[in-house]
Amino acid sequence: MEESTATTSKKAAKKAEAKRAAELAAATANVTLQDDAAAESYGARPAVFSHGAEEVDICSLNESHVDKTVIVRAWLQNSRVQSAKMGFLELRKGANWSIQGIVMASEEEPVVSRPMVKWVMGINPESFVAVEAKCYLVASAPSMLGMTLAVANKPIVNFSDDVPPAGNVVEAEKSTIPAASMLTHLDNIAMHKRSPVQQAIADIRIEVKKPFRSYLEERGFKEFEPPCLIGAASEGGGNVFRLPYFGEEAFLAQSPQFYKQFEIAGGRERVFSIGPVFRAEISNTARHMTEFTGLDLEMEVRESYTEVRDVLEGVLLHIFRGIQERCANEVATVRAVYPSEPFLLPEPGKEVRLTFAEAQKLLREEGPAEFANVRDDEDMSTPQEKALGEVVRSKYNTDFFVVDKFPETARPFYAKIDETAAPIGDGVSVTNAFDFFARNQEILSGGQRINDAVELEARIRAKGVDPESAGIKEYLAVFRSVGVPPHGGGGIGLDRVVAWYLGLPSVHLAAYYPRTPKRLSP
Ligand code: ATP
Repeated sequence: MEESTATTSKKAAKKAEAKRAAELAAATANVTLQDDAAAESYGARPAVFSHGAEEVDICSLNESHVDKTVIVRAWLQNSRVQSAKMGFLELRKGANWSIQGIVMASEEEPVVSRPMVKWVMGINPESFVAVEAKCYLVASAPSMLGMTLAVANKPIVNFSDDVPPAGNVVEAEKSTIPAASMLTHLDNIAMHKRSPVQQAIADIRIEVKKPFRSYLEERGFKEFEPPCLIGAASEGGGNVFRLPYFGEEAFLAQSPQFYKQFEIAGGRERVFSIGPVFRAEISNTARHMTEFTGLDLEMEVRESYTEVRDVLEGVLLHIFRGIQERCANEVATVRAVYPSEPFLLPEPGKEVRLTFAEAQKLLREEGPAEFANVRDDEDMSTPQEKALGEVVRSKYNTDFFVVDKFPETARPFYAKIDETAAPIGDGVSVTNAFDFFARNQEILSGGQRINDAVELEARIRAKGVDPESAGIKEYLAVFRSVGVPPHGGGGIGLDRVVAWYLGLPSVHLAAYYPRTPKRLSP
């Protein structure tokens, strides 16, 4: 699929290039470059512009610039030769701001010569130019692009990391502009990024991260940086990356969990971190990457773990409402390529919070027949989560909801058991732990943690983990060394928040440089 897509794309680019060259040759057949009166006004060299001409971003051009000389710097999106004396140019900057210009030979000052028209029309698309009626080529692009902008802005048709066998033709290739695979996009990373859809996604990503930080800072949270390099695979050995470390072994952190708790033990009261999280999972799914960005927080609890749940719910609602208010253009740009229904948010005061048992009951009673017998004491599978999301959307009109009070069998050893709640299923205790969902998929895991060393050791043993094992021993030692206040927190996957809010077909589209089991570059 990949090869044939790329081949089609290359064929189209070659054809376009040949057409441009033929037009240019025909129109400028009798033009010579000698005695050029406009020689000082163009070239592949540092630009020399008039003093006093204003530098303007293409997106800021408006009526106030009429009749004024301005300088713009942009990518040459396209050009079309009209005759030896005239050509049309399209200049683009940012996500999708573009202007059209005309280059016309003129003997009046400032002189525009035929050689100048010829030279301008010969600049390759995606070169970077600076223009003030004079034209300078700042950075030249090759005559044939690996992927054109038109292709880069089509929906990606295949997210597989495997190069498919030759001759495998994809449906989208039948369109006049062929679509490309994720592999082709990543092999042409600059053009991938220049596409309006990726620019919009990147801008929305910033609008998730920024309000996460500001919302928490306004509520007394302090930022910290947990280490990525750690000495033990403390949160379970299976999905951790190992690397040589001066004759020893080091690991890449699977989450900042223990370090957030050390901050609480260290008296920081309310903390958050934004940083990379590594998972050595062979999960070739649209939901997983081997590196993603975690938005994490941890806080002291005064009376109830619901204080934590409320902060997490509050920050996510603040983020989602912020995107709706500030990123309407970007969202529209993304939807034009990847159509999706608007993301439904609950009305204030009508947030949906189900207990795990209530969610399973809802699935049994109102979900698809295959889930008619789901149990209250077993973790939800991904298809179950998707079905639950559908039921909640039609019943409560929201794409964002909370499932609380998970059974202890579905949570790690540090999850605090709710001693006041009746056991569910076959006598399984429930925890003060929850997941948050967006468009049917998990975006957050969180809850109250055990803060007492004796209780923690008992839970570690009950989960079949050796309290003396590397990493666990040091973790427990912190709880034995001081009195740690009751606390809780959560971890949000930034990439998933962006991807599922926008209804993208894969979380890989929301990452700047997606990392998968088979992809480590660019
Ligand atoms: P899943 O069951 O979907 O694999 P998880 O239970 O392993 O996720 P957590 O360990 O609870 O997830 O991580 C917290 C959050 O980090 C998740 O809710 C999700 O948003 C995000 N996340 C987890 N794993 C990945 C991954 N491999 N790629 C991208 N985001 C992830």
